[in-house]
Amino acid sequence: MSAPDVVVCGAGVAGLAAACALGRLGQRVLVLDKQPVPAPVAKGEVLQPGSLAILHDWGVTGRLEAAGAVRLSRLVARAADGSPRMVLDYARLPAAQPWLLAHDYQSILAALTDALPEGVEVRRGVPVRGPLWSDGRVAGVRCDDGDIPAKLVVAADGVSSRLRTAAGLSAHRQDYPHRLAAFELHDVAELEPDFSAYVTEGGLRLRYPLPGRRVRLYVQVAPDELRGIGPDGLRAWADRVLDGCAGLAPLAPSLRAGLEHRQVLPVSRSSARTLVAPGIALVGESGHSVHPMAAQGMNSAIADAHELAAVVRQGGTLAAAVVDHALRRYDDARRRNLAHIGRTSHNAARMITTRSWAGRRALAGTGRNDRIRHEVMHTMSGLGVRRLTPLDRLHQIELLPDPRAARLPAWVDRAVPGDPAR
Ligand SMILES: Cc1cc2nc3c(=O)[nH]c(=O)nc-3n(C[C@H](O)[C@H](O)[C@H](O)COP(=O)(O)OP(=O)(O)OC[C@H]3O[C@@H](n4cnc5c(N)ncnc54)[C@H](O)[C@@H]3O)c2cc1C
Repeated sequence: MSAPDVVVCGAGVAGLAAACALGRLGQRVLVLDKQPVPAPVAKGEVLQPGSLAILHDWGVTGRLEAAGAVRLSRLVARAADGSPRMVLDYARLPAAQPWLLAHDYQSILAALTDALPEGVEVRRGVPVRGPLWSDGRVAGVRCDDGDIPAKLVVAADGVSSRLRTAAGLSAHRQDYPHRLAAFELHDVAELEPDFSAYVTEGGLRLRYPLPGRRVRLYVQVAPDELRGIGPDGLRAWADRVLDGCAGLAPLAPSLRAGLEHRQVLPVSRSSARTLVAPGIALVGESGHSVHPMAAQGMNSAIADAHELAAVVRQGGTLAAAVVDHALRRYDDARRRNLAHIGRTSHNAARMITTRSWAGRRALAGTGRNDRIRHEVMHTMSGLGVRRLTPLDRLHQIELLPDPRAARLPAWVDRAVPGDPAR
């Protein structure tokens, strides 16, 4: 490629989504990633309907479905015995694709890569060393083989973003006190097609099906809980997990067989004070990250990319002043939305990962309140933020009775014109 218009640093979901969205505007986009091949990490497997609408337009959803992606019709918070405490029934959403879609992160990256328009090039094994500056604005990137000038730089280099720091954009990060042990279970018998989070005395257990009779299971663990543990200790640990969560009984043989192959992942939340500086935009986890419990991270990254392309298209050219104006609009539009998603994800995580009275009460109270439950689902689905008032919070923990608890929001069951799938 001759000089690109846009350089994207990072070929995770955020970077590839940005490349797709900007490439579809006719921009020449160069994506650089330091890894020669994507790392096989168990993260980012569940897509929300809001993202599916965007990915459908880009031709990604069809590729994922063809590759066996699994549709999940509900997100359910359950007690340890498996009984439902809060059910989000995605079929009720006013969406063309009213379900969650699950596939491996690497398959989602592959589908995005396949859908990249002409004019986008991905180079792997190329670390970006820092921004290239001109007249006080970012005007490209520095790599080992030389400088690459660009009219717009997109930092999609993940939660520890080097570009964000080098561009002077600070981010506040808080680690959760627990980790998630990820297991990929094979040969699992028929399982309900839902995303189920179990609230147990030992914390969160989260499971959902993946293609090929596989199941992803996340188990909340203390930072050192599995460190240095031998095979016997591991088996005893698995027995304790299964004893403490009868709802996981159908997974017991597969879990015992798959104990050796685990990943223990730290979880944190973070947000940059601003998502832009002259010449550069942050997308995905370089700008914000949330607890995985509510399956929002990848979806927010896709929404970032979509919004960034929208403001660039409205600007009409990539002249420096026009780009910087567009970037400020991107920052305005996204930060408001992200603050809300961040709060929702954090609250969902607290409800399920801690043993606080208020958390358990809020979960059960939301489950019993049709109105609030549906508004929470709308926000989580990525179809649009539905704000809860301070009064709603009191209704959630049932400190005040809600006279409108049974009243469904007007959008429920609104027909989606021309949607053959419903
Ligand atoms: C356990 C877990 C489960 C999750 N589940 C879900 C889920 O179900 N749904 C959901 O929506 N989200 C989920 N998430 C969140 C989701 O994984 C992230 O939000 C998403 O992967 C972030 O994508 P990204 O592209 O911003 O970052 P990354 O995926 O981290 O990609 C960053 C890329 O930048 C590259 N890079 C870094 N530095 C440089 C450099 N200097 N030069 C060049 N390249 C560089 C890296 O190699 C990498 O490829 C989960 C996260 C975790 C931890």
